[in-house]
Amino acid sequence: MKSDLLNLSEEQRGIRDLAREFAMQEIAPFISEWDESAHFEPSLVKKMGDLGFLGMLLPEEFDGLGVDTSTYLIALEEIAVVDASAAVMMSVHNSLPTQMILRFGSDEQKLRFLKPMARGELLGAFALSEPEAGSDAASLTTQAVRDGDDWILNGTKSWVTSGNHAGVILAMARTDTPSERKGARGIGTFIVTPDMPGFHVGKKEDKLGLRSSPTVQLSFDNLRVPNANLLGQPQMGFVYAMQSLENGRLGIAAQAIGIARAALEAATAYAAERHQFDKPIREFQAIQFKLADMATRVAASRALLHAAAHAKDRGENVKQATSMAKLFASETAMFCTNQAVQIFGGYGYVKDYPVERLFRDAKVTEIYEGTSEIQRIVIAREQYSHE
Ligand SMILES: Cc1cc2nc3c(=O)[nH]c(=O)nc-3n(C[C@H](O)[C@H](O)[C@H](O)COP(=O)(O)OP(=O)(O)OC[C@H]3O[C@@H](n4cnc5c(N)ncnc54)[C@H](O)[C@@H]3O)c2cc1C
Repeated sequence: MKSDLLNLSEEQRGIRDLAREFAMQEIAPFISEWDESAHFEPSLVKKMGDLGFLGMLLPEEFDGLGVDTSTYLIALEEIAVVDASAAVMMSVHNSLPTQMILRFGSDEQKLRFLKPMARGELLGAFALSEPEAGSDAASLTTQAVRDGDDWILNGTKSWVTSGNHAGVILAMARTDTPSERKGARGIGTFIVTPDMPGFHVGKKEDKLGLRSSPTVQLSFDNLRVPNANLLGQPQMGFVYAMQSLENGRLGIAAQAIGIARAALEAATAYAAERHQFDKPIREFQAIQFKLADMATRVAASRALLHAAAHAKDRGENVKQATSMAKLFASETAMFCTNQAVQIFGGYGYVKDYPVERLFRDAKVTEIYEGTSEIQRIVIAREQYSHE
């Protein structure tokens, strides 16, 4: 019997099956073509919205499903098994912009944005990184200057997932002045929409993997944002972003587990079919041990992820737990996809089988929403923080 250690409720099984069915019908047949041409399929957004996948953590009053974090992550893993690109779009949207507006937004902002976001009418994006501000995100330089009832934003945001298809972009910009810099406490978060004058979509990145998730640069050229679109307090935007990235990291961990599981499933099937020396290669202990290590790491990643999700829903401090889950799951995705290519031999190195794409898709999970080095820094810091 295969072990996943999760004792799913009937509701969770229903949502998992719906996600699986959706991904198999609407994405799987096109996956190679979209990967090859780096095509983002915009109709997926509305379809996912109609099924509730873009408002999973939003309360029903905002047309969300209002499920717990674990249930959301189960659906996300299922989408990621088929397509890591659709999964990152779903993860960013559910974990970052919608949660930030729900947690820190005004009543008016919630009413204006959350329902269309839950329904898939407005896709969300998160714009923190800049060309010179990656891991050290608080060093960002996009400047916001108050002008009457508006703010004027100038600067460049890089690596914005879904940034060229988003209807709502949560963008961080400095609200302190060049003469009085306040570091992480001098940054605001603004709700930017693409119809605002001065909003420009720049370079679309040509990526190794995750090719059907667009990643773009955005530039703000005297972008005029009404003060009504400032999220919460003008000095607190970076704090809001960091708190929300704890959710984001759980989503990326679920995405990584989906990629790892897809590699495990493909390799398990292939090892039964492929014959060498007159027997299926799964009869060689060298192959069995690879499959055993892969299965163990997938199960351990999932257990860590859902323990963190339950602790989060209980209101506990999960800074260390979310970083552990993201770190372990992303390294599991790299490990499993690497082993899967090895099990496929030469056939793993070409596009006729899915493991070549999975190997390319896995790498970014060790980079975005905090690199593995940054996760280790957070984990170590938390280890000493309560002394
Ligand atoms: C496909 C993709 C999608 C993305 N989507 C988004 C998005 O939607 N929104 C967004 O805001 N950003 C997004 N990002 C940006 C992503 O979060 C950053 O790439 C990431 O935070 C790392 O920043 P960097 O690339 O500038 O690397 P750097 O920070 O320059 O790091 C380079 C290397 O140095 C290491 N390093 C840096 N600082 C330390 C340290 N203190 N100690 C030890 N090692 C260190 C890093 O771990 C890394 O190995 C995306 C990135 C990619 C590739």
